[in-house]
Amino acid sequence: ITILGIESSCDDTSAAVIRNTTLLSNVIASQAVHMKYGGVIPELASRAHQQNIVPVVDTALKEAGVAPDELDAIAFTRGPGLLGSLLVGVSFAKGLALAHDIPMVEVNHLQGHILSHFLDLPDRTLPHPDFPFLCLLVSGGHTQIVRVDSPLEMEIVGTTIDDAAGEAFDKCAKVMGLGYPGGPVIDRLAREGDPEAFRFAHPHVDGFDFSFSGLKTSFLYTLRDAVADDPDFIDRHKADLCASLQHTIVEILLKQLVRAAKEYDIRDIAVAGGVSANSGLRNGVVEEGRRRGWRTFVPEFRFTTDNAAMIAVAGYYHYLHGDFSSLDVSPVARIEELM
Ligand code: ATP
Ligand code: FE
Repeated sequence: ITILGIESSCDDTSAAVIRNTTLLSNVIASQAVHMKYGGVIPELASRAHQQNIVPVVDTALKEAGVAPDELDAIAFTRGPGLLGSLLVGVSFAKGLALAHDIPMVEVNHLQGHILSHFLDLPDRTLPHPDFPFLCLLVSGGHTQIVRVDSPLEMEIVGTTIDDAAGEAFDKCAKVMGLGYPGGPVIDRLAREGDPEAFRFAHPHVDGFDFSFSGLKTSFLYTLRDAVADDPDFIDRHKADLCASLQHTIVEILLKQLVRAAKEYDIRDIAVAGGVSANSGLRNGVVEEGRRRGWRTFVPEFRFTTDNAAMIAVAGYYHYLHGDFSSLDVSPVARIEELM
């Protein structure tokens, strides 16, 4: 089965080709235009997708050595994400499907992040978790613990009641003047800093939910008070601030993950989403796993942030299940429940 995946939910235009679960190509065009605005501007994102989609899909097919007529399905991100961005991918998928008479398969972007763990490479298979497993899904817009019983059966068992972990990274980075997206910058600076230098508020949340707004406020107040005494405070303590902030975010994430793993008695534990690129979180999950006898699954870096390979592999499982979309499918900005 050969599938083309198309992802355009936020600010990355991506296309990938897989044969069964083996990745043949994965092309990503990132949009630098948003950096100078300190966040994604939906209008600009949509326009950049329109410029990128044709060459990105073309390159993905060429790199894979696959002609459109050889495709068994086109998998595309239906949501959640920015409507104007999603619309470009959905419309392009429709056009291609119609022109070549290929079935379309819609994919939930979040399910895609999780199913990135089932990709393989042409020269080697990658480690796959066994079912049921727990996935800590940490991205720019979501922070969830998902219990995964099969590729298409998942249940959200915990979710953030305010900000996502990626948002916490990005907003705190903005306060320090580190640019957008700030997560990767904090990760880099944190390597030189002391994770115990500063203490920030930890939330008290029941069950397996998350909260990051208290941390954000606590971070903000620490900076505000310190800068009042010393205008150069941020510059002089950047590495320690980043290391301490990252350490706190990782602690918050791991605490709930450990709770859920105990409650559900599950020992296959995966992380997915853009924040799973974070070295502190990656090390933290592996360390925690070593202590607790988990098998831990951390994706390759290129499969952490948005990519079409994960959309293609999710599409593959829908294809096997016979879930096809009609040509009048439209994008959705929010999906409250994983399908
Ligand atoms: P969603 O998947 O919820 O719709 P999204 O697709 O915009 O949101 P992703 O692309 O999965 O989000 O992840 C982007 C987020 O990951 C950003 O908040 C970014 O700062 C964060 N991020 C990326 N790399 C790192 C890193 N090394 N450390 C911390 N955060 C990171
Ligand atoms: Fe994403």
